[in-house]
Amino acid sequence: SDSHFPVPITPSHVDYSLHYPHFFPSNDVISTHQATSSGVHSKKIQFADIGCGFGGLLVNLATLFPETLMIGMELRDKVTEYVRERILALRKANLGQYQNISVVRTNSMKYIPNFFEKGQLSKMFFLFPDPHFKEKNHRRRVISPHLLDEYAYTLEVGGIIYTITDVEELGEWMKACLEGHPLFEAITEEELKADPIVSLLISATEEGQKVARNGGQTFQAVYRRIAVSEEE
Ligand code: SAM
Repeated sequence: SDSHFPVPITPSHVDYSLHYPHFFPSNDVISTHQATSSGVHSKKIQFADIGCGFGGLLVNLATLFPETLMIGMELRDKVTEYVRERILALRKANLGQYQNISVVRTNSMKYIPNFFEKGQLSKMFFLFPDPHFKEKNHRRRVISPHLLDEYAYTLEVGGIIYTITDVEELGEWMKACLEGHPLFEAITEEELKADPIVSLLISATEEGQKVARNGGQTFQAVYRRIAVSEEE
């Protein structure tokens, strides 16, 4: 159950020195504090991979956006541990690299607001989430009208939410939820083509690779967080 993993009380309680020691050296508490107040360490996590699985996307994005802090959120204990080890091994083998990615074991459907402030994220990924086919289990889906309110709160205006699945019904569901939400608009075809991340949704994720090997179809919905009038 959730009681087995600690949850930060607020986003300011997330221990960045634990996740990104290269960016947040923790050996000197006083200088870290001074650095924080002088803005040197004001860097925040900007990309979140929700249900990151084995971490393939994070690993690919790490070198593409070396200055951007990213986190994977994963419910399964052993899978989270695997990703943690994978990142540590990459850091060891490639000095100075992969310092910007990390992973946390948590239930994203409950605790996103504990990790991120309003408007903090510029990208959120929901790649090949569990389908929960039965009608009564739709409330367990990681994309829903209610949860989109939370994601809209967490994303900055202009931020992007990427979703993809090989389950057609789920693809339609995620698209319909996004299309029906007042704070999201679809990304145009040209923008999708220009975005280097879009091809990674399949080529970098373990699930995407599996689907590609089996020649399966995928259904993606990529939407932008738009402003409500008082935010403009
Ligand atoms: N995104 C990865 C990929 O494309 O390879 C993994 C996809 S896998 C089918 C879905 C993952 O979401 C699983 O690893 C599962 O443990 C995780 N998951 C399911 N519900 C979750 C939740 N509420 N919070 C965090 N992770 C969750």
